[in-house]
Amino acid sequence: MNCRECSEHLSEYSDHEPAESEARAIKVHLDACEDCRNQLRLMEHMAAATRDLPRHEPSAACLLRISEAIHRRAALPLRTEFGPVLNFDELAEYLRVDRETIGQYLDEIPSFEMGGKLLFRKKSVEAWIESKEMGFGLQRTEEVGGEVNGYSGHTLDVNIPCIQS
Ligand SMILES: [Zn+2]
Repeated sequence: MNCRECSEHLSEYSDHEPAESEARAIKVHLDACEDCRNQLRLMEHMAAATRDLPRHEPSAACLLRISEAIHRRAALPLRTEFGPVLNFDELAEYLRVDRETIGQYLDEIPSFEMGGKLLFRKKSVEAWIESKEMGFGLQRTEEVGGEVNGYSGHTLDVNIPCIQS
């Protein structure tokens, strides 16, 4: 065992935790190495000093702040159930995009106004999504048989070198 290996196991050793064979190897090294003995002594001093320190109990306010921070960080579960009419925020949630994106598509997405509020009928939004999908499908069919980026479908002649052992 060298000094690096010894110091890796020293804290387990001072806590009497390593396996017996390992403990023996550490002890042999410690008997021969003053540096590691000093390190162990220092470790034991620190352990003794911190044992006597008063335990710090977090205040109730502190615990509350931690718990609030954790709740803020936890992502809200994604909603899957929506009513027949969505407001702006619900539409963003329904489409899994942010409000800004909805803003960019506002002149495309079917909507109606009521009481100064912009509302979206879920059925109309679904139809709008379908129209988008249809467009994608048509583009795909047009490309079938044609060249894609000038590549006309020749098989590539590739020489794969054999690995000789
Ligand atoms: Zn050593």
